[in-house]
Amino acid sequence: MNDTKPILIIDPGHGGKDIGGGSNDIFKEKEMNLKISLYQYQRFQELNVPVHITRDSDIYLSPTTRTEIVRESGAIYCISNHLNAYKPEARGVETIHSIFADDTLARKLFQAIVAEGMLGRRVFSKAGDSGKDYYFMHRDTGSVKTVIIEYGFATNKQDTELIVNNWQGFAEAVVKAFCEYIGHPYSPVIIQPEQPIETGYPTNTPDWKINAVNWLYRQNLLTDQSWKGKVDESVPLWAVATMLQRLKSQLEK
Ligand SMILES: [Zn+2]
Repeated sequence: MNDTKPILIIDPGHGGKDIGGGSNDIFKEKEMNLKISLYQYQRFQELNVPVHITRDSDIYLSPTTRTEIVRESGAIYCISNHLNAYKPEARGVETIHSIFADDTLARKLFQAIVAEGMLGRRVFSKAGDSGKDYYFMHRDTGSVKTVIIEYGFATNKQDTELIVNNWQGFAEAVVKAFCEYIGHPYSPVIIQPEQPIETGYPTNTPDWKINAVNWLYRQNLLTDQSWKGKVDESVPLWAVATMLQRLKSQLEK
């Protein structure tokens, strides 16, 4: 957080006890929202776009607190990052703007995410009771122009793979599109993988599998590099026993 009046406030949806509906057995929505948001927060700072964030750790914010932070930030815009959930066949990115706003920014962010490889689903706004917005992030954020981004569906296999493998690409697409929208100079980064690229894994092995197996190597629970070529195969009983013995002796040190 900093004291400069921000142009933008980024809002990682959910947090703490509120895991978020856009979760599956690979990621929790609150965690993926935070990863995307912290990435954007850092990039906007690098690009000298004054930016705030509603939360930078895994804490619960009530709708009242969250919208108060947004209203009092002094920001002109808010981007609220989310992941969707619905029927298994439902796919694609959605951006949602206030019923009182035009759809220019929402459409620009939507198109940027589609250009990065996500299927486009819709850009929309939704009215609730008595002529107000349905979503509290629009209804209760005052004059801050808020766009909710649902990057894709955690309940859909293809969307999940795209998000796990390219969340940084989608996050960066939003950074670029927002800079263009406000007329701020943009320069790209070469996206660094979280871990150095490891050799030995089959091509197209997703990062989350590589990260999990690399952890075993870092802990010295697994030493033979040839296991990397067999990430999707089952491990023989003797290998499990060896890993458990190593773990036990490490814990006893
Ligand atoms: Zn959500």
